[in-house]
Amino acid sequence: MLNVELNTPIMTLNAIEYTINCIFNIVGLKETFELQVASNRKKVILRLNNKKIFFNLLTEDKILKLLNREITLNKILSADKAVEIPIILEKDAEFVTIKEEVLCVNADILSISFILLSRYEEFHYDSRDDIGNFEYKNSLAFFYNFIDYPIVDEYAMLLRPYLRNFLPEIEFTTNKYQIIPSHDIDELYRYKRDLIGFRRIVFDLLLKPNCRKKDYLTNVFNKEKDPFNESIYTLLHDSQRLNLEAEFYFMTAKKSKLNRGYNILDFDMDKFVGLSKRGNQKIGLHGGFGTRNNLELFRLEKMKLESATKLDISITRQHYLNFEIKETPNLMEENGIRVDSSLGYNEQEGFRCGTCHEYRLWDFRNNCEFKLIERPLIVMDITLFKHKAYSKKEAIHSIFKLNSRCIAVGGKFTILWHNTYVIDFKEWYEDVYIHALESICKLNCCIDPDFSIG
Ligand SMILES: [Zn+2]
Repeated sequence: MLNVELNTPIMTLNAIEYTINCIFNIVGLKETFELQVASNRKKVILRLNNKKIFFNLLTEDKILKLLNREITLNKILSADKAVEIPIILEKDAEFVTIKEEVLCVNADILSISFILLSRYEEFHYDSRDDIGNFEYKNSLAFFYNFIDYPIVDEYAMLLRPYLRNFLPEIEFTTNKYQIIPSHDIDELYRYKRDLIGFRRIVFDLLLKPNCRKKDYLTNVFNKEKDPFNESIYTLLHDSQRLNLEAEFYFMTAKKSKLNRGYNILDFDMDKFVGLSKRGNQKIGLHGGFGTRNNLELFRLEKMKLESATKLDISITRQHYLNFEIKETPNLMEENGIRVDSSLGYNEQEGFRCGTCHEYRLWDFRNNCEFKLIERPLIVMDITLFKHKAYSKKEAIHSIFKLNSRCIAVGGKFTILWHNTYVIDFKEWYEDVYIHALESICKLNCCIDPDFSIG
């Protein structure tokens, strides 16, 4: 259940400023402003270049009602008129009105954006699944059916043309859409010398009757030629071929029930680092199960990876997307992590944080933003074929749909494909992942470096 202290305001002045800054970043407006909340708390007054912008704001009791799913949201057409977005706006009211030197945003885009960006809804909701993750079924996006839309970005895109007209003297920047393939390296070896490895050898020999048994068995014990090891290079080469800057998250966790575990020193990291630099591919930490609330364990795993790669590690994603909003951002920041990309749901693809832009997470204890940047994960392989049990066609459709919203808002389409599933779901790798990425690259001309969103 929701765990909110009623004497603590949800939308503090700092929270309002943070949310407006996030929205303005998406809009491409980098100016400083002054902020004031009207005495009745129903309006935020922003002063910028001798002009005023009003934002309507739900009262605190109505925000609580929103969190308890007790208010009805209306719908508005997105800026590109392609989809309908839920919004807190009175029926038939205009999204924005301008009178003389005042622009008034009649919708409350701030409360819902803050709840989604800060992850207020999970910070104040205690229920977790059996591995400690906040579940999609408990989110506002599930109840109000908006997981397919980055609604914070959609609001920003609706606001952008009004602000550009209202502030013609200011130069707005344009955010560039980008596809970011990312790869969690959960295992280095398919044929590890343990029970699971042995089972796989038997399984593969039985299931691949046409393979040349002698060659096959020679390769089984050649670590360099192990399929999981080779799959890391397959992913690297495919990203480089498509001119995409991929991220590779390596694990250094000890073997346990939920960490398959491998010795990172068994991997030829010098060779991989050398190859990865060619196309600006990045290396990050895949924090093992158990690190989400353990600062020292996280530090140890990061140090091991830094020692193996001889690199400063500043990007990360948690194994099983195992991220506790009350603890993980703090320990990542303490350990010098700059960007995390864990915030997607295992069981549902889409926009968990309401955005596909990078943004700073919110520190509830200190009522200010973290330095830590979140780049939300939009879609993951296992969600498609296991949790949602899609056909390949349905999976491709979902990827295209989500990607099209990322294009519409100039955001980052972060997709995760595990190295193990390059092998274990080979057909899906080729027919869904590679097919979708090739089609998107072709359509968006992202191979052309001059491509950008207007
Ligand atoms: Zn993992």
